[in-house]
Amino acid sequence: MKVLAFPDSRRNATRRMHFLNYIRVAGCVCALLLPVPQKNSSADEVTSTYSIGNSRVAVSVEAGTLRVSTEDLMQWVRWASDSVAVYYGRFPVPIVRLRIIPAPGNGVRGGRTFGASDGGSIRIHVGSSTTMADLQSDWMLTHEMVHLAFPSVADQHHWIEEGISTYIEPIARVRAGHMDAHEMWFELVRDLHQGLPEPGDEGLDNTHTWGRTYWGGALFCFLADVEIHKQTNDRKGLDDALRGILNSGGDIRREEELTDVLRIGDQATGVSVLLPLYEKMKDKPYDVDLPAMWKELGVERAGDTARFVDSAPLAKMRDAITYGDTPAPMPPPGSAARP
Ligand SMILES: [Zn+2]
Repeated sequence: MKVLAFPDSRRNATRRMHFLNYIRVAGCVCALLLPVPQKNSSADEVTSTYSIGNSRVAVSVEAGTLRVSTEDLMQWVRWASDSVAVYYGRFPVPIVRLRIIPAPGNGVRGGRTFGASDGGSIRIHVGSSTTMADLQSDWMLTHEMVHLAFPSVADQHHWIEEGISTYIEPIARVRAGHMDAHEMWFELVRDLHQGLPEPGDEGLDNTHTWGRTYWGGALFCFLADVEIHKQTNDRKGLDDALRGILNSGGDIRREEELTDVLRIGDQATGVSVLLPLYEKMKDKPYDVDLPAMWKELGVERAGDTARFVDSAPLAKMRDAITYGDTPAPMPPPGSAARP
């Protein structure tokens, strides 16, 4: 059963940033390839469908009190679906059943993704006082939908499933024009260090802490992305590897060996990066000088945003990682001008 629980003591972290980060990922406790829970429909339940390419997102909203309208919720569903489709070149599965469950409080409050024979199923809680602005800035639904685009692997590799969702979600939203690139890089610089090994670490396959699962997995993705770009002179990136995996049939409906999946990703880019990096990180601490990497990529923290240094040696790679083949979109409506 692919459910990882993390101790509630994490919620008591003294730094607000850590608290927010815990909330950011703890809501997603993924239970892949489990039977989809059945529930009787409520008389007041609302259902709608969003068609995207050859795929369908079948949305049901359970009865309950919500400040936002069904139209607002469907707009949110479109933003997340489009972000994932832009990143992967298509929506990952033929059909996903999305169940929106009203809950007390504010904001999107936790989701779960399940595999199903014809696609997938997502259950996500939305607080009763959630506003349209909350939905516009939400990351969680996109995170859940990214899970649809990778096969289920053994429990010891859960870090790759969460790492991909954690790393890809903001990039996908930037590429679809739903997040500002400076915000994306600011958050990566702020948060990625939480994936670094701590004393006693035994590698990603053997260290099942919250930090190593979500951000350690994201660190693997980031390092792979940089290395693929380096070895291909920015012609290929992690997006090509992940699209190759998806297009080989590797979505949430399949159970696969991780090494087989990574081999397919390497074949898609034509360079051997994912498997060798996995060998380095799977069973031992693999330390990384992140400040040096931010400097090379030309990303500096500036208050609560990031500043780009275009004279940095890897500034071109930074843009290639951010946008891939997608033209840089206009900033999202209402976003402040960035330096
Ligand atoms: Zn997740």
